[in-house]
Amino acid sequence: MAFIRTRGRALALALAAALLFAQHATLARQAQQRACTVRVTLLQVNDVYRFTPADRGARGGLARVSALRKRVMQESPNTLFLLAGDTISPSVESITYKGAQMIDAWNQVGLDYSVFGNHEFDYGDEELLKRVKESKFKWLGANVVDSKTGKTFAGTPLFDVREMGGVKVGIFGIALPETKTTSKPGPTTEFRDPCETAKVVIPQMRAAGAQAVVALTHLSLEQDKALARCAPGIDVIIGGHEHSLLQSSSAGVPIFKMTADARELGRIDLNIDPSAGRVESIDWEVIPVDASVADDPAFAPVVAKYARLTNELAQPVGATSVPLDARSATSRSEETNVADFIADSFRKASGADVALINGGSIRADDVLPAGDLTVRDVLSILPFGNDLAVIEVTGDVLLQALEHGVSLTAPGAEPGRFPQVSGVRFSFDASKPPGSRVSGVTVDGRPLDTKRTYTLVTTSFVAGGGDQYAMFKGRPDVPLKQKLTDSGVLRKAIEDAKTIAPRTDGRIRRLDTPAESRPCAAPTPTPGARASLPARACGSTPGGE
Ligand SMILES: [Zn+2]
Repeated sequence: MAFIRTRGRALALALAAALLFAQHATLARQAQQRACTVRVTLLQVNDVYRFTPADRGARGGLARVSALRKRVMQESPNTLFLLAGDTISPSVESITYKGAQMIDAWNQVGLDYSVFGNHEFDYGDEELLKRVKESKFKWLGANVVDSKTGKTFAGTPLFDVREMGGVKVGIFGIALPETKTTSKPGPTTEFRDPCETAKVVIPQMRAAGAQAVVALTHLSLEQDKALARCAPGIDVIIGGHEHSLLQSSSAGVPIFKMTADARELGRIDLNIDPSAGRVESIDWEVIPVDASVADDPAFAPVVAKYARLTNELAQPVGATSVPLDARSATSRSEETNVADFIADSFRKASGADVALINGGSIRADDVLPAGDLTVRDVLSILPFGNDLAVIEVTGDVLLQALEHGVSLTAPGAEPGRFPQVSGVRFSFDASKPPGSRVSGVTVDGRPLDTKRTYTLVTTSFVAGGGDQYAMFKGRPDVPLKQKLTDSGVLRKAIEDAKTIAPRTDGRIRRLDTPAESRPCAAPTPTPGARASLPARACGSTPGGE
């Protein structure tokens, strides 16, 4: 399913259309590649957080990717395998291994280059430096600079030029500037302007003989488009970050992004004219990574090394008959069926009058489809392993806590403190000043009594004043009969029910209309470029708020 692209004019097409042309792929490629051109193949993945398949085994899996890479290399020996960022974090495995399991996997698959994604910095510079040392492939990030030395982070090269089949291909990396505030890079690690960096690097690459310039980026699509416009000389942008299948073009430069977790393998063929020293044309296709691809047996040692953990994570705990909304944006701004289920299970397990959890503690950042639920699903929703704590609060303190919980709610804001509850119902109006937004509070069907003492269950994090719930600090503890953890309680609630079907019941009512007052910050959709997969931002702040 290749699309011929005449130079300077790229077509943006949806995957559905692409699939129709699958059988023409080889013909198109052969027709396009003239005798006098050299074909260099780029294989692309981005935002890959696990080496095991996703979607209950249906898609992804790096053992399959490894097999596909070998298949492509037999036909097109001048191949480079590229990862456009985000692999160290977040994942259930990374709670234990801090991304080392992914480096093992990439080393085995035969990755050539990766750019730093924002999530590479989630465990800080020191941990990332260890991962870079373990890597048999090259990391790139020309705009990631140590302000103390002026050198690139981890001493990575500004760019690399590879000679293949008699032509020279240059490649450089650009990381997301917002990484500085959304992840945990060190104080002297800077993310410089993509455009200014590229304008310096590209002429150096051309001077070093690069006949094709590949930008390996981890940016938003808008930033990629701006990069193509402002820095002349880029032949193709291999990007990531959105978790959407995107095929776009800006200033005549094609931009490709796969979804996430290696559900697809991008194949981009650069047909380079060695005498003219430039890219003559580009073909591309999106190769589905699914069960039709047999695992590469050479990947088995990686699977074996981590089998104890991955087998434990694959254990079934029950099922859900409805999709579970565990997206960060909804958990932090409105009542969700997952949050209701968690809060209800906390209250039931502890016997408290009410439950309150911070929306930021719900993590999977995904809608889990109806079907079986595994230990991995439970831990992806509640990864922190917090103990539950029951405290005594007056109605007055409970009201303060609810006011605090909705105090940062605003159009487009997703504060981690947003209160998800059980045993209590309330309304709020985010257009009113913080501190006077909550109304109509009832506990167990009766109006809140500000003088009465209630028992409240939450996590030890929030009970200790986490997410600035300072009003809970120092309140009398109610001892639990046994130690309970957040994920343990959720797991048991699913196991006991066997099949769950949580639905929201209107316990949290928002009185203002956030949709109408939302600012025009949403990116402009590219016609025809988006597949039907839901966009999933991967830039949420680690930790609480
Ligand atoms: Zn990202």
